[in-house]
Amino acid sequence: MKNLRSEIIKYSKMLNSKKLSALRSGNISLRYKNGFLITPSGKKYLSLKNKDIVFVSLNGRYDKKSGSPSSEWKFHQDIYNSIKQAKAIVHAHSTNATAVSCHKKGIPPFHYMVAMAGGHDIKCASYATYGTRELSKNILKALKDRKACLIANHGQIAFEENLSKAFELAEEVENISLQYITSLKLGKPKILSFKEMNRVLSKAKNYKKG
Ligand SMILES: [Zn+2]
Repeated sequence: MKNLRSEIIKYSKMLNSKKLSALRSGNISLRYKNGFLITPSGKKYLSLKNKDIVFVSLNGRYDKKSGSPSSEWKFHQDIYNSIKQAKAIVHAHSTNATAVSCHKKGIPPFHYMVAMAGGHDIKCASYATYGTRELSKNILKALKDRKACLIANHGQIAFEENLSKAFELAEEVENISLQYITSLKLGKPKILSFKEMNRVLSKAKNYKKG
């Protein structure tokens, strides 16, 4: 478990260094036994120690003596309970993904890399106050058949089978968001067809298998 805690800290610091989330915004978790390990509430990533990482059970219990989990722990709990493939979650307030989310807009297939999130588009979860079950519900809806989504007026979230992949996906969502914003400056981008996105998705699936 010590290694898992250090891994979470390593990637939390990368939220800062890779400019995915400033100071203490965003949060990271890893599925562990009958629960998950998650970054704590209100601590700057640069100062994190192994003991600061909090274990929360899948029914939402944690040892109060070991500190408080991120104020957004409920959507981590709800994702782990609803999506069994989710083994690691990265939530970031990355600038470009957040900028798109503030228009309550998802990202259409203007680029084939949108398929990285698992489908034909990247959806935007409806707004609800951070840390609420209502927000979890909105996020789960936007994550249906997807591994990443935007969250309206808030940021983005990505899950994967491990932390390195989840982090990479969050970076990809940020990059796609920047490309989308840039492309919108020239007018409305041409959208790839349903058929083409299906082709890209099946290619990505085969590539993974290979
Ligand atoms: Zn947040």
